[in-house]
Amino acid sequence: LGQASVAGVKAAIAAGHVHADPATSLDYPSLEAYRAMGGYGLLDALRAGEVAIDDLAKMIEQAGLRGLGGAGFPTFRKWGFVRAEAGPRYCVINADEGEPGTFKDRYHLEREPHTFLEGALASAHVIDAEGLYIYLRDEYPTLGLALRECITELEVAGVVASGFIHLRRGAGAYICGEESALIESLEGKPGKPRQRPPFVAQCGLFGRPTLVNNVETVYWIARLHREGIESYVNVGRHGRQGLRSFSLSGRVMRPGMYLAPAGITLNELVEEYGGGMAAGHRLLAYLPGGASGGILPASKADIPLDFDTLQAHGCFIGSAAVMVLSDQDDLVAAARNLMTFFMDESCGQCTPCRVGTQQMLAALSSDQWDETLLTRLSQVMVDASICGLGQAAPNPVLGLLKDFRGELAARGVQLIASTGAPAAMRGD
Ligand code: SF4
Repeated sequence: LGQASVAGVKAAIAAGHVHADPATSLDYPSLEAYRAMGGYGLLDALRAGEVAIDDLAKMIEQAGLRGLGGAGFPTFRKWGFVRAEAGPRYCVINADEGEPGTFKDRYHLEREPHTFLEGALASAHVIDAEGLYIYLRDEYPTLGLALRECITELEVAGVVASGFIHLRRGAGAYICGEESALIESLEGKPGKPRQRPPFVAQCGLFGRPTLVNNVETVYWIARLHREGIESYVNVGRHGRQGLRSFSLSGRVMRPGMYLAPAGITLNELVEEYGGGMAAGHRLLAYLPGGASGGILPASKADIPLDFDTLQAHGCFIGSAAVMVLSDQDDLVAAARNLMTFFMDESCGQCTPCRVGTQQMLAALSSDQWDETLLTRLSQVMVDASICGLGQAAPNPVLGLLKDFRGELAARGVQLIASTGAPAAMRGD
């Protein structure tokens, strides 16, 4: 996002062609104000050798910081993989926050862009990166302006060399949130996920070892160093440790982004942070991890919302986008809507996902759901899709078949069993 396109975005916002969310105030601390509160202390200390990279990695390990874009991979280990590869290396920040219901990265970027930039620059320093690339969701034009202005502040102040940080806009494709598709897009190619191995830590941007971190992950690196890890690790519920940024939406009194203890349950999150269920609504179901994290019934609203517990229930927390549905919501319509989303956003390069999403949507479109067919299609998609989109697309449907059979019947859906493969798969 160069100066020319900043001017273009400003003009588009002024002309009303681009929606600038009025909630995006861009009222964040300047570089000077951020420095006054100890900002960029980590970066200074790393560059001066006052903080050793191994000590920083140890701090991150002790804090239990995991990738917060959805995968949950331990951050210090990812650093280690990339550092073990011969340079030149690149650092890429995934700011393509596209998972439906997720708005935590936007929240942190709007309020503390310099905290984010310090964490990103610290990550780049750790792997001795040749350049730092930030891939920003195109639907966040005002954030693009904010980041451009902060980067210019850093360049003018001599904190970073001009041209070290590259701010790039996405183009509205959900699949470009997948790290290898994002890298393809950064290289100017269509955003299609790569086959692995090799992994991006070995062969990423421009064929070089690449560290890909989520916005919130690097945000916490700077904040944990500045504030100490105690305030982070000394919280948690039900045996879990740390804080999570929950994007809470749906049928609650106060939807919003809440920093809550890791391991909190849905019931606790809704009652203590969301102000309870919206008036007149009774909890029916919830999606713990956006569109791709599956769906759980109200009877499972007392399980900890964390990586491991949810996995045991066939779901995953992903980016912690919690969507609450009530007795006034139609889960059948929701399932069709979600499958339509996956079908539209599939990049189309592998058959299980491209054809599987189409076949599943067709199967969901009648009032008779062929359970055998849906289950077999799901298995093929999970087993044989190249990337997480195709692997996760069946999750909402599998969740409904598992926990909502009565609800499906109440909505007029009859479950039937067949032995036939869909016509397209037989080659008719
Ligand atoms: Fe593309 Fe879907 Fe295959 Fe992923 S699973 S590579 S989105 S077709």
